Amino acid sequence: MQILDGKSVAARVREDVARGVASLRRERGITVGLGVVLVGDDPASRVYVSMKEKACAQAGIASISNRLPAEATQAQVLEAVRELNGRPDVHGILVQDPLPDGLDIGPVNDLIAPAKDADGVGIGSMGRLLLDKDGFVACTARGIIELLEAHQVPIKGRQCVVVGRSITVGKPTALLLLQRHSTVTICHSRTENLAEHTRRADILIAAVGRAEMITGDMIKPGAVVVDAGYNRIAGRQGDVGDVEFGSAQHKASWITPVPGGVGPMTIAMLLKQTLLAAQKSVQA
Ligand code: NDP
Repeated sequence: MQILDGKSVAARVREDVARGVASLRRERGITVGLGVVLVGDDPASRVYVSMKEKACAQAGIASISNRLPAEATQAQVLEAVRELNGRPDVHGILVQDPLPDGLDIGPVNDLIAPAKDADGVGIGSMGRLLLDKDGFVACTARGIIELLEAHQVPIKGRQCVVVGRSITVGKPTALLLLQRHSTVTICHSRTENLAEHTRRADILIAAVGRAEMITGDMIKPGAVVVDAGYNRIAGRQGDVGDVEFGSAQHKASWITPVPGGVGPMTIAMLLKQTLLAAQKSVQA
């Protein structure tokens, strides 16, 4: 069994981004900027945002933050995005998901200017992905593919099973795998006999949000296992994936650790796509 080492692949991506950011500053006098909207005080969201802002700072990207209280209205969140859309020093925009209860993330993401959709979550970015056109892609999905590619895991012709069909993880990951000519099965909460599907997977992607739901007996010997899950378990320290690593590692040929697998790749892709947005704004 070998480790799909997201930490070191992400570090390389972040170094490349830092070089690109420095050269935009040197050659064009542009400071790359990421606009960040955080609504409410969900502890996990605050941690994710501060990790992203720290990573931006390390790459030389400025964070332009807009913190809104949990009582913020939908109109106020939309206004925050509108303001970032209009700022020339903001090249990419991130609205941290989830929003507090009562607010709808869909229209908020769709308002992000397509040229600034570094998080790849707007309707335009999603449409481009569906049409196999270049564009911004949901960061976790892109991170999963770049992680596989960095380890030269063959995708073409393989049986891929994605457990989870969310708009930001499962679905875009399935589309990227399909683009790379694998045969893709998407499973979800209404899938019957889940293990029958997962046991056929050469590449198994878990994006469920249920701690250690995928166990070793659900994995084909020699499969490549990618775990996007980040789950908190009361009374246990640290985050736990959707895959039970202990039993899965004896079956998998390659496997992501949690943490240190998909998580760092997600952040690296956000930085990469923010730089890309800035580079495109110069070319436009
Ligand atoms: P969602 O809750 O949006 O989606 C979960 C998906 O899993 C849904 O499609 C749901 O099916 C499916 N599902 C739920 N229960 C089962 C079940 N028993 N059997 C099969 N499928 C099931 O989660 P996300 O996609 O946003 O996140 C998935 C995981 O990835 C979470 O642990 C999250 O924390 C993590 N994550 C990690 C990131 C990273 O950077 N590493 C970034 C984003 C998320 P249905 O559609 O039918 O409801």
